[in-house]
Order: sequence, then C-alpha cells, then structure tokens
Amino acid sequence: MSLIHPVVIPSSFISKTNRHYTLAIYRGDLEHADAPGNKWHKLQHHLTQAKKRKAKVIATFGGPFSNHLHAFAKTLESTPFQAIAVVRGELQPTLTPTLIDAVASGVELWPSSRSDYRSGCSSAVVDDINRCYGDVYWIPEGGGGLLGAFGCRDWAGNISYLDSEYDAWAVSAGTGTTAAGLLSHEQTPHLHVFSALKGAEQQKLEIVELAHSLVADGSSIEQVSAKLSFYADCHEGGYAKQSKALMDFMADFAIANPEQALDPVYTSKSLFAICKAMQAGRWPHERTLFIHTGGLQGWRGYPPSNNPFSSYCKLSLDGEA
Ligand SMILES: *Cc1c(COP(=O)(O)O)cnc(C)c1O
Repeated sequence: MSLIHPVVIPSSFISKTNRHYTLAIYRGDLEHADAPGNKWHKLQHHLTQAKKRKAKVIATFGGPFSNHLHAFAKTLESTPFQAIAVVRGELQPTLTPTLIDAVASGVELWPSSRSDYRSGCSSAVVDDINRCYGDVYWIPEGGGGLLGAFGCRDWAGNISYLDSEYDAWAVSAGTGTTAAGLLSHEQTPHLHVFSALKGAEQQKLEIVELAHSLVADGSSIEQVSAKLSFYADCHEGGYAKQSKALMDFMADFAIANPEQALDPVYTSKSLFAICKAMQAGRWPHERTLFIHTGGLQGWRGYPPSNNPFSSYCKLSLDGEA
C-alpha cells in the first residue's frame, strides 16, 4: 500500500480563484503500527547513542497525553532498555489512556510537580532518578535536539524516495525539531511549517540554524532559510486548544476524507491553514505533499463527540489499548 494518499479539499474550501491545486498526504501516521508519526523517527539516533554508551536505562519527559511518551513507550518495549518517564504534574488516581499504555509497555512513571518539571535535566526528580539508577541516558522532552532532528533528516530521505512529483512539502511544528530535520535533507523541496504553539514567531531562526547544522551538501544558512516558509499564526488559540472554526474545518475534512484522520493538536491546524490559503488562491505551490506526523492517540484526551474521525480512529486505537 502506498503511503501517499490524495486529499479531497472540502467543498467549502474549493478555490474561489482559477488556481488549481493538488494536495496529498504522506501517511506517517500509518508507519510503525505501535509508534506512528514523527516521534519514532526522533528516537532512532537516541537509541543508537544509548547503545553506544552501553546505557541500561533510558529516561525522558512528557505530559499525561504526550505523543512523545506514547511513542517512547512503544518503541522501547521491544528493546532491552529499562524505560523511565518523568510525567508533568502529580499523577491522578486514574491514569490517562496514554499513561496506561506506557505502563503496559513497561515504562516506570515518576511524577513531578509542574515547577520542578520546568527545570528539565536540572530538576530534583532527575537527580533522584540518576541516584537510583546510576548511568541514565536522558532524551529531551518531545525527543528534540540534534539527534531528534537527525532522525527526521533520515525520514526525509525515505519520503523523497517515494515522492517525485510534489513541488512543496508541509509539516506541523511543536519544538520545530521535525521541521529542521526535514529541511536539512537535500532532496526536500520547499518546506512549509505550521506552528501549533502561540508566540512561536522566533522559531523560524531556530529551525534554520538546527537544519543548517545538519545539511550534508554544503548549503549556506541563507539557502536553507530560503527553502522554508514558517507560519506562527495558525495555532487556533494556542497549544492543544481548538477554535470553533477549526472544529468546523475538521468536520468538513472528515466528510471529504473519512480515512485521512487528523489529530486535534498539530496536523488539523496545519491543514486548516493550507486549505484556507488554497481557497484564497494565496498558496504558492501547485502540488503539495503534507507530511502526517501522527498523534491520533491524543484524541483520547478529548470527549469522543469532538472527534469527527472517531469511527476511523476507534478501529486503529482499539488495537492499541
Ligand atoms: C510532536 C508532534 C509534532 C511536532 O514535532 P516537533 O518535532 O516537536 O516540531 C507534530 N505533529 C505531531 C502529531 C506531534 O505529535
């Protein structure tokens, strides 16, 4: 089965101009059944590094609905590493579905107060874990940093191998690590990046710098920057928030594309922005490939009635439970 699927632009978003657009999705959400999307790729070089260091324990950080923690748990399940997760906030008497899956995959959970969590690797909980376990390999929150981006550069190589016809790619951003990795690959065409966070205007430069540190073909920082379009105004209210307009878009999109489920935090916001720009005739590329970064497990943090893809998600998420 091909991982590149055509997108039907919802009828309410058909271009009012005479520009014609082709949009397709690279279904990263269908790769790696247990750990779909970008997070698996972000973990690969960390695992290699941990093996090289002969670490026995790998630890990371995440919120109670984190896609990163979920992928971390599923990816480490089949390795000999002991997995530890520092969870943001006190653990509730009832674990979230994400944390239930993590525990079932053998991850040891360490709760941390929100203020301690913010200190990252210099938090008290990290000290405690290091004291308990000795040599722990730490992966930053979200799997970010140079090694995370490196895994996404590899991913771009795989995607470009399948794609020979699109003049632009588009992807969602949180930390921007995935975007930087994709941008750094010489086969990646022009890249449109949509931040899911409020106030991310400064992130463009960070993405360019991280990508530039990974380019293998000697591109200058200006050349890397010219290949990137970055949007900080598509967050629809902020991280993990949904505007009414976004909810309406998802409902329309789900009717037109019942099998192309989008997640509520990242991919839906990016595609909403793309469809709006196409409708206005403002989108600069004729043939665009959107890279689906997964995250469908995140729907479990919302009432099922909010999820217009629920009949589709249910099938795939039941298998995971
Ligand atoms: C984490 C995540 C992103 C953002 O990835 P970054 O590398 O942090 O920019 C995008 N989409 C989904 C579905 C994610 O889970």
